[in-house]
Amino acid sequence: MQTSTATLIVGLAILAALVFELWLDGRQIRWIRGHRDSVPAAFAGRIVLDEHRKSVDYAIEKLQLSRIDAVAGSVLTALLLIGGFAFFERTITALVGSGYLAGLLLVGALLVTYAVVELPFSIWRTFKIEQKFGFNRTTPGLFIADMLKGAAVAVVLGAPFILAIDFILRNVGEFWWLAGWGLYVAFNLVMLLIIPTFVMPLFNKLEPIDDTSLRGRIETLLKRCGFRSNGLFKMDASKRSGHGNAFFTGFGPSKRIVLFDTILASLSAEEIEAVLAHELGHFKLRHIVKRMLTQLVTSLIGFAVIGWLVAQPWFASAFGLSAPMPLAVLILALLVLPAFTGWFRGFSNWRSRVHEFEADAYAAGQTNGADLASALLKLHKDNAAPSTTDPVYSTFKHSHPPTAERIARLQVA
Ligand SMILES: [Zn+2]
Repeated sequence: MQTSTATLIVGLAILAALVFELWLDGRQIRWIRGHRDSVPAAFAGRIVLDEHRKSVDYAIEKLQLSRIDAVAGSVLTALLLIGGFAFFERTITALVGSGYLAGLLLVGALLVTYAVVELPFSIWRTFKIEQKFGFNRTTPGLFIADMLKGAAVAVVLGAPFILAIDFILRNVGEFWWLAGWGLYVAFNLVMLLIIPTFVMPLFNKLEPIDDTSLRGRIETLLKRCGFRSNGLFKMDASKRSGHGNAFFTGFGPSKRIVLFDTILASLSAEEIEAVLAHELGHFKLRHIVKRMLTQLVTSLIGFAVIGWLVAQPWFASAFGLSAPMPLAVLILALLVLPAFTGWFRGFSNWRSRVHEFEADAYAAGQTNGADLASALLKLHKDNAAPSTTDPVYSTFKHSHPPTAERIARLQVA
């Protein structure tokens, strides 16, 4: 391929992905603004008009910020591809040569660049929008501490992985991408073991749930569903935000259930049980296994494509890499590919929505559907989720079905 053709195709792909993103966000903004002055029928009597308007205003401010964020991200990627990345590569190899240290520095330089561009958006989101709508509880001190801890964790966990990939690239030969994929899979499994037990406690306090009647209720539910976990924890999420959530995490010996303290404060014991039954449904219906298998296959395809790109001489030269380190070409591929793969997100979101309905039905069978419905409504209000949504936007962007649809199905069941 001609190098100019390659640059043109990538440029157009980045532009198309950005335009699509802005178009979707624009549709959603117009839709919810148009529905601002009346509570949608599905929520009549459950949400008052003021709450509804607040959720619309909150969603619009977040969407507007995310549009600017999308533009900034695309411009940054484009700037890196038309010379910024090649500049990093030249500067670093001039300073330290093209050994393993250069690979680490190159990845570090890119991550710092993206983090610097993302920082003002993150600050605006937390201290302007979340603050204005009464959700933010993060202090500037906590925000900075989180950032520094996040960076330290990324270095400690990420550096060995990058060194190992670089080693494979330099030594394995043509089929390096198969070995790289194997390493990637192993790395992810290790992360599933390490993150819940060692990383999460760095950011949050996780305590066993002390309410004995709630514990008893949950343990009975777990037994009834035939699920073994290694702990039931309460997480002090309220120190950062008023939003509520609950999740299962880890695998094997690190498998645990975590409830945000915000949920324990706002949901009744019956509602918490129903929410957990929904999460258990994801395990029992093999959604988790299916998701992992999908990731195995898609990451293998991803590595194969990267393996092919790295072997093409036109690819590195199209983006100005002179005497390329193999790792630099791999990173280049990672910069280019998201513009082409973002389109598949619509499909994975659709599948996720199907799974959510299935898990709701499972929960309704194991516990009480009415409890799940009232829990969903409370979470919907606590998170100030918009009560109405543009159907096209929802199809591409929402991993969960609209609350109204979930509640409607639970009431039919
Ligand atoms: Zn779910």
